[in-house]
Amino acid sequence: MSHVFPRQITAPPVKAVSAKGCYFTDEAGKQYLDGSGGAAVSCLGHGDPEIIKAIQDQVAKLAFAHTGFFTSDPAEELADLLIKYAPGDLDRVYFVSGGSEAVEAALKLARQFHIENGEPQRKHLIARRQSYHGNTLGALATGGNAWRRAQFEPILVDVSHIAPCYEYVDRAEGESAEDYGLRAAQELEDEILRLGADQVMAFVAEPVVGATMGAVPAITGYYKRIREICDTYGVLLILDEVMCGMGRTGHLFACDADGISPDILCIAKGLGAGYQPIGAMLCTKQVYDTIGAGSGFFQHGHTYLGHPTACAAGLAVVNAMFDRDLIANVNTRSEQLMTALREAFGQHPHVGDIRGRGLFLGLEFVEDRDSKTPFDPILKTAATFKKAAFEAGLICYPMSGTRDGQLGDHVLLAPPFIITEDQIGELVGKLQAAATAIP
Ligand code: PLP
Repeated sequence: MSHVFPRQITAPPVKAVSAKGCYFTDEAGKQYLDGSGGAAVSCLGHGDPEIIKAIQDQVAKLAFAHTGFFTSDPAEELADLLIKYAPGDLDRVYFVSGGSEAVEAALKLARQFHIENGEPQRKHLIARRQSYHGNTLGALATGGNAWRRAQFEPILVDVSHIAPCYEYVDRAEGESAEDYGLRAAQELEDEILRLGADQVMAFVAEPVVGATMGAVPAITGYYKRIREICDTYGVLLILDEVMCGMGRTGHLFACDADGISPDILCIAKGLGAGYQPIGAMLCTKQVYDTIGAGSGFFQHGHTYLGHPTACAAGLAVVNAMFDRDLIANVNTRSEQLMTALREAFGQHPHVGDIRGRGLFLGLEFVEDRDSKTPFDPILKTAATFKKAAFEAGLICYPMSGTRDGQLGDHVLLAPPFIITEDQIGELVGKLQAAATAIP
């Protein structure tokens, strides 16, 4: 009998025993194609000898040194590398152990920045409905996914939620894409004015929405307008690239495609590529210097900040992305996967939308394509799809929760950047097999 506490207590998971390249093997010897990098984590695939060696070397040299006393070579080098390629004025990197921690750090940094900048009244946070920013209480409060929040609502801090930029459902008939993007962004200005122009601390959003919507990028122009609104009202822009960052969308940082840069950026998943748990919060020089010139102390921290072994893994992962030109491969394979998905599902009666950027693509399942009516939640379409895909030997990331108020179902695809053209064919074939389970 197992003593592990699984997520799904009524259906404990199968035991994986090894993984290599794009495949997992379970204890019965069955192979699974990793079509989602777990949850957009394993961007280099599994068993990469270069990353393993970097970790082994670092463990042998300096496994851990508490940041209350020391910095380390891997932390310094990884910070330099990230800042070299980071957009805008991002200048400092705060290393944590995962995505929720990166978001928590971002929220606290935003609050402390305003206090030390002489605006302690700025305490309101605005985020978007249908977003996910992590499961710790601050990050969960920030996220706008009703199902994930529901039972914890009484212990969550108050956060305002505006609409996401969700063209497939929310763009009105006859409305241009540009007008829709501006209309969606306008909700931010309206909410700032409703709360009080000098009361808002930060706006938080995912450039490409992952877990809760299934790879939904914003319309071109949306984030430019969001950036302008934040600048006008002195609101910090926090972008959560925990899932969509680190090359996943075909750019090292997802916001590169939107032509803007945030005040604070959160990354995780692909940074350690699953080899080590690591996340990071990047902030601008202005934010950093304000605290530096004020209290000189960021009042936040965890034991494993800047963990040398995790940083060594992150450094090896980012170096591998550049040395092997993997982001170019993301773009090539993205086109192939998108084409194959359109061929396989373009006319499928229950696939309403095929979308995304890079190797971060999603299919939205609907009951009726013309009216875009979602499936009745009672059918548990996403869960049924996940089970069928697993039986077919495919790991993908189906979820309910796309639509406000009604559930809506999608599947997210985020295969390793090393996926081959043949494996893309295999992935789409297995998706087709799983789709036969949709009622
Ligand atoms: N932010 C986003 C956009 C995510 O997708 C996730 C996880 O899926 C998180 C934050 C939380 O990251 P973690 O699970 O590493 O705490």
